[in-house]
Amino acid sequence: TQSLADRDPDLAQAIRQEVRRQQDQIELIASENIVSRAVLEAQGSPLTNKYAEGYPGKRYYGGCEFVDIAEELAIERARQLFGAAYVNVQPSSGSQANQGVFLALLRPGDRILGMGLDAGGHLTHGAKPNMSGKWFEAHAYGVREDNALIDYDKLREQAKEVQPKMIIAGGSAYPRVIDFEAFRSIADEVGAYLMVDMAHFAGLVAGGVYPNPLPHADVVTTTTHKTLRGPRGGMILSRDVELGKKFNSAIFPGLQGGPLMHVIAGKAVAFGEALKPEFKDYARAVVENCRVMADAVQAAGYAVVSGGTDSHLALIDLRPKSLTGDIGEKALERAGMTCNKNGVPFDPEKPTVTSGLRVGSPAGTTRGFGTDEFRQIGVWMGEVLDALAANRSGDAAVEKRVRDAVTELTGRFPIYPELT
Ligand code: PLP
Repeated sequence: TQSLADRDPDLAQAIRQEVRRQQDQIELIASENIVSRAVLEAQGSPLTNKYAEGYPGKRYYGGCEFVDIAEELAIERARQLFGAAYVNVQPSSGSQANQGVFLALLRPGDRILGMGLDAGGHLTHGAKPNMSGKWFEAHAYGVREDNALIDYDKLREQAKEVQPKMIIAGGSAYPRVIDFEAFRSIADEVGAYLMVDMAHFAGLVAGGVYPNPLPHADVVTTTTHKTLRGPRGGMILSRDVELGKKFNSAIFPGLQGGPLMHVIAGKAVAFGEALKPEFKDYARAVVENCRVMADAVQAAGYAVVSGGTDSHLALIDLRPKSLTGDIGEKALERAGMTCNKNGVPFDPEKPTVTSGLRVGSPAGTTRGFGTDEFRQIGVWMGEVLDALAANRSGDAAVEKRVRDAVTELTGRFPIYPELT
């Protein structure tokens, strides 16, 4: 019956400080968001106590009648959101969803073709240090040097040469719309499975502002916590119910025992929210806000990879002002704006340094920022970075001035008033 604060004051204090941090800074990390109180409540519920190995109606434990309702709600809502015939909401992360697909469709040593990490792909798409790069013969495609877009003609040639068992579309730092039809036609030409990892833009698909990969892919994976604004977790979707049986076996018993039923409950809540008309407004605003922010940074003299964005993220190239991502990220953080350093295509710098910053609009949009706020954020970024270009240890006065303005702005947009 003891509250967390009474039972464990040290931990309670860390949580309070983290909520305060989220409240007081501007979250520009493109893969983060701010879930609703309802999602938090579901995720913090006693469903965490329940073992439910198996799937709804076919469990290896008794007492699953109510967690079955939670999982069925999540599945049904995801089906509706994305037009999927098959959904598995059990993967505990995006990486695990991808591993489930690989376990179902590939054997060690098979060839896969995914977007390179240095071009904006994800670790799990065949990067060397990842299981996907160690257990498969992973080949990477990139983007064009002149416009940073996927070169579909070159990709087709590469696919013909590599003859992969699976082609993976999607990434973590690609700001533009991906042509899923082109991917489908390339996969068909070489007889490969097409997997689309929509982790970053799933919320934009749900909101109708980004093309839906479901009609084109054999399988679609995603995280649930990025633009989709649910609890931290993963999901697998497909039009093909027969393939779905393989994915189900791969997730359980292939990869895991008991699914996280409290997280699945949180997914059900988030998908319910995404089915509401307001979610379309949110998705539209995410893209518009990101464009406005990218424009403002560009107007300050920085480059934006591919010249802009069609999505929730933009990749700022700092080379026009001879800056690097590592120090840029730190300066912005001192000024109250959290983002991450990120390589730009053909980056001459090491991954620990980089020439770029990845910024995104989902979290700010969720807390209510509109185009005025995002334009202002872009202007502030330019000011802090310009000051850094003039003095590489940062200009404390400029950073303090912006930090104070950020505090004034974030104070007007409370995120969890009941928790602060
Ligand atoms: N796929 C893509 C495209 C991602 O961007 C990410 C996370 O950044 C993942 C998969 C992995 O998700 P998780 O961090 O939940 O394992």
